[in-house]
Amino acid sequence: MPSDRTEATDSVETALARATEALSWYRDTSGAERADFLVAIADELESVSEQLVTIARRETGLGEDRLSGEVAQTRVNLGLLADWVREDRDRRPVHDPADPGFPRGARPDIRRTLVPVGVALNFAASNFPFAFSVAGVDSAGALAAGCPVVVKAHPGHPATSRASADAVRRAARRVFDRDDCPLQLIEGNEEGVRALLNPRIAVATFTGSLAGGRHLAGLAATRPAPIPFYGELGSVNPVVVTADAARERGAELGRGFVDEVAFSGGQVCVKPGLLLVPRDHGLDEAIARRAQEVPEHRLLYPSLGAQYLERRAAVLGVSGARPLAEGTVRTDEDGHVWATPTIVTVPFETARTQASTIAEEVFGPSSIVVECDDVERALVSLPEWVPGSLTATVHLGGAERDALQSDCRDGIAGAVRALRHIAGRVIVDEWPGAVYTTPAQHHGGPFPATTLDTAAATSVGQLGLGRFQRAVAWQNAPEAFF
Ligand code: NAP
Repeated sequence: MPSDRTEATDSVETALARATEALSWYRDTSGAERADFLVAIADELESVSEQLVTIARRETGLGEDRLSGEVAQTRVNLGLLADWVREDRDRRPVHDPADPGFPRGARPDIRRTLVPVGVALNFAASNFPFAFSVAGVDSAGALAAGCPVVVKAHPGHPATSRASADAVRRAARRVFDRDDCPLQLIEGNEEGVRALLNPRIAVATFTGSLAGGRHLAGLAATRPAPIPFYGELGSVNPVVVTADAARERGAELGRGFVDEVAFSGGQVCVKPGLLLVPRDHGLDEAIARRAQEVPEHRLLYPSLGAQYLERRAAVLGVSGARPLAEGTVRTDEDGHVWATPTIVTVPFETARTQASTIAEEVFGPSSIVVECDDVERALVSLPEWVPGSLTATVHLGGAERDALQSDCRDGIAGAVRALRHIAGRVIVDEWPGAVYTTPAQHHGGPFPATTLDTAAATSVGQLGLGRFQRAVAWQNAPEAFF
């Protein structure tokens, strides 16, 4: 447990007591009040943005541009959620007026309303110290929905987490003039588990490893009162390049692929882990050349670096694997691993038969190019050997794209449509890296991308507020209630 805590970190019991106290008034705040709070958090983050970025750089090894961009992204997300709840758009009731002609006799007036579910627990991510951390998408969603949130700080960036929580606390004082802030911060592995098992917690969110997420999801499900656990775990995010696309813009796609793999040292949940291409695709040179241009990147923390070395070695050790770019790896005196992209190519049959090694997330700057005799058939086969992902992407040739306009069922169109069975977001002719906050967004997907793959199970986008709401149907209740 770190010793240099600020007032932002509390013991589990104190944090839960304060969050529960906050629930008693925060759940009844108006949309406009919650919107003001979210905007105030964004303002407070902006006012200390430079300090936050400096601390986070030291703790995570991520670059200045990436981190300042992430603070900006976090602020924009808070602002968009504020706009969404200001007019109570998230709580619009569904109203069925009384119907005397209902099939089984007269039906009374029924209104379905949404209420905050209670105190949320958010296990913050390692790889996004702002956007998926203390004031990031999960916490912002909970606060927007009227739920106080207890954040379990990620140990990879404790000081960043404390400074962010201080900013939220200042915003709460400013807007509500109260000390029982609707956001509380806790630290420590056992503390996170104790909070998860506490009956005061009504819902949990998580971004992290498959093993950790499975374990915590199991605990959430077997509590005396089980709660939903929205975990985002591992994702390989397959990208398919058709023969036409490879012919028409192979070099551009090769470079784009390496840039996506290398972004933030490959430590992002939507990094393409598999690139399916036709045999004789001609992308080799562009991929190898671009990979050599990428400077080495520090991986977030030493044990995560060690995991990367292990997974990279496993992939390089697959019989029939050929490095397109072997990449460099080194461990510094502090135990941090530094790496440049490792891109390996394997034939389709090898990928399919050794899916337990090939089609599993490698967290770091590495990816696998799968050479296919028939890309269309390979695309249709994905659900058989590639686990659920956050994203699935296809790059098409111009004529193929035109064909999608008129033919939505057969041929390449049918194959593209099949991608909806393995991913929460299907992308055509773009890369998966940017995830936008909009009501149409879905940042989720079948297991192991997430533990709960339902319509409300998106961590990004306004509709993710549904994770923090319960429905109540009112029958024959007076109009004045609403
Ligand atoms: P992690 O080790 O699962 O940790 C995430 C959070 O959960 C931490 O706060 C951790 O607390 C807690 N936790 C995990 N297992 C726990 C357990 N058994 N009991 C109690 N608390 C537990 O994940 P990470 O450190 O962020 O990264 C490790 C791996 O996660 C990466 O290599 C990558 O594979 C995956 N990852 C995936 C995504 C994605 O969205 N696809 C994003 C980030 C990471 P303590 O550290 O205090 O134990």
